[in-house]
Amino acid sequence: MKAARLHRPGEMSVEDVAVPIPGPRDLLVRVEAAGICGSDRHMFRGEYPTALPVTLGHEFCGIVEGVGEDVSQVRVGDRITADPNIACGHCDACRAGRVNLCANLQAIGVTRDGGFAEYVVVPEGQAIVLPAGLDPLLGAFSEPLACCLHGLDVARIKPGDSVAVLGGGVIGLIMVQLARLAGAGSVVLSTRQAPRRELALSLGATHAVDPSAGDAAAAIRAIAPEGVDVALECAGVPETFSQALAVVRRGGAVVLFGVMAKGTTVAVEPFDLLVREVRLESAWLNPHTHARAAAMIAAGQLKLAPLISRIVGTADIPAELMAEPRFGDIKVMVRPG
Ligand SMILES: [Zn+2]
Ligand SMILES: [Zn+2]
Repeated sequence: MKAARLHRPGEMSVEDVAVPIPGPRDLLVRVEAAGICGSDRHMFRGEYPTALPVTLGHEFCGIVEGVGEDVSQVRVGDRITADPNIACGHCDACRAGRVNLCANLQAIGVTRDGGFAEYVVVPEGQAIVLPAGLDPLLGAFSEPLACCLHGLDVARIKPGDSVAVLGGGVIGLIMVQLARLAGAGSVVLSTRQAPRRELALSLGATHAVDPSAGDAAAAIRAIAPEGVDVALECAGVPETFSQALAVVRRGGAVVLFGVMAKGTTVAVEPFDLLVREVRLESAWLNPHTHARAAAMIAAGQLKLAPLISRIVGTADIPAELMAEPRFGDIKVMVRPG
């Protein structure tokens, strides 16, 4: 089968490899769709540790074509999404139920071979069965949506709250929808690209501002003079983190969600955060949220199709990861074969 394998940072090739053999508790899954994620770019550049060599791809959906002898719940023919993050179950964090903080975390598409291939092996316990008739391109959103749901959980948005979403990529555009579903009274999105602002307004944002037109925090404060109840940092750059701190109201919450490259630092004024009692949260991965994400997708609660900007083949993956994201791209999906 063809697989996109990362050998060293910046060095990836599409090659013929053997179809993997599932262990007793594993599923052999034929990949139907896999999303290219910002984290894949970080891994490609060596900014996020991976096993080497490894087949990347942690956001995928596919059909079960083989099962190990001890598999009991999932059947051949099922369409599944995989929670890529495999917790050890016995470290302190796992015992406390905080599986995303597992000291021995393994991940499909990071520390073991993932979904940028025709087939991938998934432990049965990581699989969630999707409806048979579901479009696999939508099923492949389960992992990013699960991460967003964790962000929403820690944000604790209350009905009627005002929310600012800083960053209009796929995460920001999912967060806009989740904030409205959580009952937010107003949602303002900040992003440079005009088509993304228009899309956000069609997906439920009440306002959209252009940070390249001036001071983004001032533009948001013009809409919410007292500041917003919740600011979600979804771009993973220092500017949006600073903006989130600047637009949150007294007693409000800032959620750090975007992934900044390791080593990046941001200046903050502790006195300001202290006297405004800003609740600073961070949301990492998808603890206990993958099944909820799959349920939301199965129920059609989110508009995800408008977030797919291009569909490419496995052979295109190295070039996609080498290039900067193209203007207008939101989510690039891979369909193997
Ligand atoms: Zn991802
Ligand atoms: Zn653990």
